[in-house]
Formats: sequence, C-alpha cells, structure tokens
Amino acid sequence: MAKYVYLFKEGNANMRELLGGKGANLAEMTNLGMPVPQGFTVTTEACTRYYTDGKVIGQDIVDQIYEALAITEEVAGKKFGDEENPFLVSVRSGARASMPGMMDTILNLGLTDISVKGLARKTNNEHFAYDAYRRFIAMFSDVVMEIPKKEFEEVLDEFKEKKGVKFDRDLDAEDLKQVVIRFKEIYKKHQGEEFPQDPKVQLMEAVKAVFRSWDNPRAIYYRRMNDIPGDWGTAVNVQSMVFGNMGETSGTGVAFTRNPSTGEKKLYGEYLLNAQGEDVVAGIRTPQPISQLESQMPDVYKQFVDIASKLENHYRDMQDMEYTIEEGKLFMLQTRNGKRTAQAALKIAVDLVDEGMITENEAVMKVEPKQLDSLLHPNFDAAALKKAASIAQGLAASPGAGAGAIYFTAEAAAEHGKNKEKVILVRKETTPEDIEGMDFSQAILTAFGGMTSHAAVVARGMGRAAVVGCGDLKFNEDETAVTIGDKVYHEGDFLSVDGSTGKVYEGQIATVEASISGEFARFMGWADAVRKLNVRTNADTPRDTKQAVAFGAEGIGLCRTEHMFFEASRIAAVREMILSDTKEQREKALAKILPMQQGDFEAMYKALEGRPMTVRYLDPPLHEFVPHVDMKDEIAELAKNLGISEESVINKINALHESNPMMGHRGCRLAVTYPEIAAMQTRAVLQAAINVKKECGYDIIPEIMIPLVGSRKELAFVKKIVDETAKQVFAEQGITLEYHVGTMIEIPRAAITADEIAEEAEFFSFGTNDLTQMTFGFSRDDAGKFLGAYYDNKIFESDPFARLDQDGVGKLVKIAAELGRKTRPGLKLGICGEHGGDPSSVEFCHKVGLNYVSCSPFRVPIARLAAAQAAIKDMK
Ligand code: PEP
Ligand code: MG
Repeated sequence: MAKYVYLFKEGNANMRELLGGKGANLAEMTNLGMPVPQGFTVTTEACTRYYTDGKVIGQDIVDQIYEALAITEEVAGKKFGDEENPFLVSVRSGARASMPGMMDTILNLGLTDISVKGLARKTNNEHFAYDAYRRFIAMFSDVVMEIPKKEFEEVLDEFKEKKGVKFDRDLDAEDLKQVVIRFKEIYKKHQGEEFPQDPKVQLMEAVKAVFRSWDNPRAIYYRRMNDIPGDWGTAVNVQSMVFGNMGETSGTGVAFTRNPSTGEKKLYGEYLLNAQGEDVVAGIRTPQPISQLESQMPDVYKQFVDIASKLENHYRDMQDMEYTIEEGKLFMLQTRNGKRTAQAALKIAVDLVDEGMITENEAVMKVEPKQLDSLLHPNFDAAALKKAASIAQGLAASPGAGAGAIYFTAEAAAEHGKNKEKVILVRKETTPEDIEGMDFSQAILTAFGGMTSHAAVVARGMGRAAVVGCGDLKFNEDETAVTIGDKVYHEGDFLSVDGSTGKVYEGQIATVEASISGEFARFMGWADAVRKLNVRTNADTPRDTKQAVAFGAEGIGLCRTEHMFFEASRIAAVREMILSDTKEQREKALAKILPMQQGDFEAMYKALEGRPMTVRYLDPPLHEFVPHVDMKDEIAELAKNLGISEESVINKINALHESNPMMGHRGCRLAVTYPEIAAMQTRAVLQAAINVKKECGYDIIPEIMIPLVGSRKELAFVKKIVDETAKQVFAEQGITLEYHVGTMIEIPRAAITADEIAEEAEFFSFGTNDLTQMTFGFSRDDAGKFLGAYYDNKIFESDPFARLDQDGVGKLVKIAAELGRKTRPGLKLGICGEHGGDPSSVEFCHKVGLNYVSCSPFRVPIARLAAAQAAIKDMK
C-alpha cells in the first residue's frame, strides 16, 4: 500500500519532494537528536491525490493519518480531546520550495469544550486555557472555514470596551469563557452547524484546508513569480504543541545563524517571553534581541547557540529557525535555509567557501539568479515600502523601483526630467516617439501591453523600472487624468512604481540606489568558469553596449536596427523611407539613414572591443513607425521631404494601415519588397566593420541576421542582395572581410523546415517573442488582456512571453536545432527573445545545446548565473 504519512522519525532531509521542506527538516532534526516536538507529515503525494480524486481525501490516507496520530499521542503521553491531559497539535503547510504566506499556521488544534477544561486543570491556569481556545476558534474559522476575522475582532473589542481595558490579555478567564461562547455562535451562523467538538474532525478539516491553500490565488501568484510548478503539491505537518505562553520561563522566537540583510556571521534573532508565535508576528509587543536570552536563561541560550551552529554546519548554509521554550525547556519547531537579500546571499556564499564549508560550484547554486536584479537597480527602502499600500497591479515588466511626479506625454516627462525632477511616465502604451521621455523617467507605467510590448522591451534594455498592462489604470478621454480605484490623478501628482512586483503606490516612496558589493566579481567569476553557454546582449546603442560589456556580455546577440531610429530626429527619415512611392524617393531617404546607421555600428563595434555583433536587419512593425494622421508637424515635414501634399501623406498613411501589423509588412518581407533597404544596411554594416578594423585593429567578422524568415527561398533572396552588395563594397574599399549571414527562427514554418533554411543560414537565432506569438497565435501586445483568466483557470501557470513554453515553443526550438545541425553540423545557435534572460528558459537553452543566450544588458549577470547553474545541475 502506498505510504502517504511519515512520522518525523521516519523521514530525512533528502525526502524534500515528498515531505516538503519543513517536514524533511523536522525529520532531519529529529534524527540529529535535537529537541523537536514529535509529529508526522502528510506527503505532497497525498495533496496531488486529493486533487486528482476530485478534492477528497482517500480513506487509505485518512486511516494512515489516524494511525500516525495514535503513535504521536502515545509518544506525548496525551490524548486528543481528553478531559485530563489533552493532546494538542499545530498544523502547517510545507511545500518543496518555501512559499511564504501560502497558508497560516493553525495552533492549538484539539481544543474542545471538554479538552479546554483538561488544559486548564493540567496547567493550573484557566485564563491560559480559554485564551488558547478562543484563539483556536478564531484561527480555525478564519484559515479553515474562511469566516471573516473581523467578526471575531469586533467581539473582542466589545468585551475590552465593556471592561475598559486596552489589551486582549487584560480580559480574565470569565470574560474569555464568554468570548468563546460568542465565537462559537459566529461559527454556527456561518457554517450552519456547531463548532466541531471532535478533534479528529478538526484535524481532517485542517488537512483539507492546507491542501486547498495550495490553489489559493496568493499561492498561484507566488508560484508564477518563482517558477514553482503547480503539480508539486504541498505537504502538511502535524506537530505536538508546546507552549511559549506558560509564564515567564516560557517564550518563543525566531533566529538566523547569520544576518539575513547583510550576511554578517553572527547569530541574529529575537524572542518574546510568555508568548506564542503569532504574538511575535503581530508586533504588539516588541521582541528582545536574542543576545539578551543569555542573561535571562543562560542554559537555554547555550543550548540554542549550540544547536544553531550544529544546524548550520549540517546544512552548510545559513539557517532560519523557529523555537519555543516551554517552562525552561527548549524545543525546535523549524529550520530551513534562510531567505536573504541579494547582498547577504553573495556574502554568505563567498564566506562559506572561504570557511571551507562549501565548494565554489555549491556557492554558485546558493544565489537565485533573479535576485541579482536588486543589486543592479534602485529599490524601494524596505521600511518605507512596508508602510505603503499598493493601489494598482500590472505586469512586472522591468525590475527596479521609481517614484516621482506623473506625466502623460513623453515630452512633458522629458521636459521635467531634464530639470532634475523625478518623473514617472504614465501612458496607455508607449511608441518609438516616447523614447526620450522614457529615458528621463524613473519608471514607466502603461495601461496596456504585455511582457514583450514596446514599453517592456525598451525599459528592460534601458534598465528602467516598468509596470505594463496595468488594467487598474483608466485614462480619461483626452488623456489628461487617470483614475485608479475611485481616485483621479493629474499630471504632477506622485506615484511610486515597483517594476519587480508590478505594484503601484500612491505618493513618493523613498528609494535606495543599486550597489554592487566586492563579492560580486569573485562570485560571478566562479559562475563564468563553469557555464557552457555564452551570454550576449540585446543592445542597439553604444551606451547600452558599454553597459552590457561592463555586466559581462560577450558580444551582441541582437542589434535591432529599427530601434536605432527611435530618436525623434531620426524617425523622420525612416518614415520617409516607409512612405516612399518610388525607388528614387526611397533611395533618397536611405541615403539619409546610411551615415547614421554606419556611425552607430562603428561606435558599437568600438564599444565591443572585438567582441562579435549580430545585426538584425530592419524589422519595424509598421504601426510602431508610421505617424498618426493627427501628428500635424510630422506630416507637414514628410510632405515637404517627399515633395507631395499633406493630403497625399495622410492617404498613404491610411493605405498603409494593417489589420495585423505584427503579421504584416515587416521583417524580411520589407527587404523582399524593397531590396534597396537590405542593400543600404549591408553597406552600413560592412563599411563600419572595415573602418573600425582599420582604425582599431579588431578582427571583426560581421554577423548579418535576416528576421522573420519562413522559407529557404525568402532567405536566399535577401542573402543574394547582401552578397552582391558586399562584393561591391569590398571592390570599392579594396579590402575583403569574412562575414556571416544567418537568420532568426521566429516563425513556426522556419522551425520545421530548419534543415532547408540551414542550407542558406550560417547561424540561427531563436526569436522566441515572435515564435511564441505565432505558435500560440497570441498577439504579443494584447495577450496581457486575457492571460489573467488563463492563470485563474489554471490553463497556464506562467506568461509564455516571459518564461519559455518548453513543451510547445521549446519543442519547435529543439526540432529546429536538430534539423539545422543535420544540414550544417556546427551551426551556431542562439536565442534573442526576451526568454534569453529568464533563468528557467536559460536552463532549457543549455539542455537543448544552444551556443549562447542573448538578453537585455541588465539581465546579463542573471543569464550568466542561470547558465552556470544549468551546467552544474547537468553534472549531477
Ligand atoms: C523575437 O521575436 O523574439 C525578437 C527577438 O524580435 P523582436 O522582439 O524584435 O520581434
Ligand atoms: Mg521578432
């Protein structure tokens, strides 16, 4: 028969998948002979079975729980529901990965009208017993039955008012007995039945509540943020109660073996005498620092210090422990590898290596790649953030924090930003014109758009905080005000935007600047030594290139050439080119673009100092580039440059309107229609490379990448233009350079005919933004509007535009990699979609055997670390 319940003494630390982190560690501490109140763990498999059985607990599982309960009662020498010596337990959730806030702990389970008397007698303290009972009824009602807490609090307030006292603890035993009666009435009102008087029923209801909590919205959201699969399930830990609130020789507390904020090697923690766990959390009384325990209870302190150091040595990591002292006797309730800030994580990892506790590879595994974000971007001051209440929630598109006055146009944001004012650009969505305003903003907030929308991609590239697709934001018609909830905000009002969580706050929350500590370089050196994947960056400007190189980028994997024209002074020439009717007009516009583009390439080749650069040819979704018909100045200028009337310009704009611009006239389709565009770009790339080679001596091998290819012939067509132009340029310059022509794989047809495409392509780069869009048929810009419903209904666990869909889109990547290398062994493969900076997607790229990942500059360290972790996992 399958085993679903384990006594603590039957488990160990390696059984984390089955027992959850908490259960496995309670078992391990038991095996180490530490003082752990005994109990048992209902496994994660029991939880997954609960769901597959249609949210019921199978009888075999129920039987095993009762069996374990009987043994635990015997060990404790107490009995459930007993009038003399009642057995009480705590019930806690415990998943494989720690998920704070998934479900609250239930304490004192087992109290009934009868057993409360036993507890009073046994402890000789009626006040204590009834206090425990009323707490239990309220907790059980709230956590298990979801009865609003408020109703219980109101009753307590009523009693305190009647007595003229301020604190709960000032109510006497008789008051508490009355409170219990009232609490039970509330329960009955909501549940239509009496508060359960059979502790076994209480226990089973609590176990079910823990299982249910695995699927509550908080847990689902946390899993999505942290890449925790929904099918893991949670375990349930049932543990004998010990009491920290039995007088002044009792207490409870938490402690870390090292400081979780700084990493300093010093026991850090606090405790409260005569208290239960919830009192420490509630913050009504101020806990004392753990060092003080030494004078209050020297023996207990010594024992605790000894256990803490044993645990750290045993787990070879900083431990976060919960403990209770019951009448002078110490009990360990929990230990786990402690959560820590990024700074602390780096320091602890490096210190543990220096102390000879762990290897460098083990150190590399100890820092969450995504955590590095907080080292590279400003963040909100933790204390200030704690006090703030968020007013809106969008997609966490680009990490970091920004606070400032809001402006609704890029011009206003830029103007105020230039005056050193802190500004937040708030838009429905951003367009290329907004680039300057975005650059001068502390953060960008948009009402629409998804994780690969213009605002998200550009903000990430700049390292600017951004929250996009924030549906709570309602613009008025002329976009002069936004309403959030029932409050209206105008330009100049203050908001704070957290791009790491997607939350928006009112007012100006203090920020702290990013700081990279001394351990960073050493730590990243260990990561670099072990990784197999190269890490490149997506950069379109010399500034971003330099930033990325400073962060360790080994080249550019994607230079989006259309992004080089986002600046207002340049976009006009691109518009002119797009709106040209004749080849002559187009060539005139292209002649304006060529020197700008060549100059940029030269500056970027220099910034790269010999590192490679993949230049992606123009791929402007037209809706991002064509001006709106009401942009009068731009239209007048275009009319002048094209030598036609303004009306004709407007007619052309209307004629260029596409129903589906993302699937419209973009990518290589543009070069097929207008070969002179590809010719100009080839000239710019090669001339720049030749000039920089001559000037600086770098041995540049240009990599030219053709986007949005779906068939071999399409690529062959554009490649021919490249080759012919190259021949001309080399003849003119009297010099020949090696160069490579490759393609992006971002259309499903390209992936499944990759063997044919590889006949032409010398390298592939997976454009997984478009590949995701086209494989699902989800618009990149609009998916944010409906994905929420997909998470709620458990169709999706995560945003496929942020985390690669490995089963579908990933399968296409794998097929294309295999087919491509069949035709061309040694074909270089990379990824340049936004997934290139996402840790789980990076791991996938490692497994599939890509050569490199490419991501925005600020994600380069994350990708380096994720690639190293993937390589280390692979060794096991
Ligand atoms: C992609 O599609 O993944 C890609 C990198 O190109 P873009 O985002 O510019 O469409
Ligand atoms: Mg693309």
